[in-house]
Parts: sequence; structure tokens; C-alpha cells
Amino acid sequence: MVISSHFLAGAAIGKATGNPILAVVFGFALHFIMDLVPHWNYGYKHLKKIKTLILVLLDPFLAFALFVTIGILRGYNSATWIAAFLGGAACALPDLIELIIRILKIKPLSFFLKFHRNVHWFDEKPKDIWETAEDMNIYTKKRIFWGIVTQIPFVIVSIYLLAK
Ligand SMILES: [Zn+2]
Repeated sequence: MVISSHFLAGAAIGKATGNPILAVVFGFALHFIMDLVPHWNYGYKHLKKIKTLILVLLDPFLAFALFVTIGILRGYNSATWIAAFLGGAACALPDLIELIIRILKIKPLSFFLKFHRNVHWFDEKPKDIWETAEDMNIYTKKRIFWGIVTQIPFVIVSIYLLAK
């Protein structure tokens, strides 16, 4: 899923725990539970397209700005700020770990790539874990549309929980 969806959902669960350690644990685990829902993601190859790159860079900033706005409006105390932020960061973290492992080709950590890929049960998977799955999963307009729609409930529920 996109970074915003993960960050906001992780922040919501982090806020619910009110505890920095639990926020990290639950936020990190929530990433993979969310990824079980069929969704669209930016492809690695598409990152070379300037439009996608701008979107990917804007994505976390938009989610973070929304989070900060809600926190200010709701008058979060420092414990809530910390737990919610850590939950959000932990929930977004697996995609960053994936990117780092791929870019640096860290072979001993390929189990992480395998696990992350298997969570995406709905995608076709190339045999070689180091190969991207993009050529096997062509993103048609319809597929992108539904892949975004499935993320919206997470965003709405997360915003509700953050603003509650
Ligand atoms: Zn993921």
C-alpha cells in the first residue's frame, strides 16, 4: 500500500496503544496485515518516471501534515504524539526496509523480501526474489483504480481514530 495509508493506520494504532514500544510492535505488524488486502503500489521501475517519483516523495509528507494537523486540533499530549508517530513510522518501515535490501542487494535478508512478497498473495510472483513483480502485474487503469479504492477505508478509519 502507499506510504500514507500505512503511516495513518500505524499512527492510529500507535495512539490507541498509548505506549511507544507497543506502538512500534503493532504498527510494524499492521503493515503486513494491511498488505493482505489487494492493493496498488508504486512500482520500482515506475520510480524512474518523474511523475511517480514526485508522488512517492509527496506521499509521506501529505500523511504527516494531516497527522500533525489532527494532533494540533485535538491537542495531543506528548505521550500521544510519540506513540502515534512511532506507530505510523513503524507501519511505513517495511517498505523502506524492502527498498534498502533491494538497492544494496543484501542477500542474507532476502527472507524479508520473500515474506513481504508472499503477503501480496494476489500478485503474480517471479521465481527470482530479486526480480520485481511489475512485469507480471501490469497496472491497468482499472487495476490502479481498485487498488486505490481498497486503501480508502483504512485511511478513513485511521483519520477517524486519530481525530477521536
Ligand atoms: Zn508492504
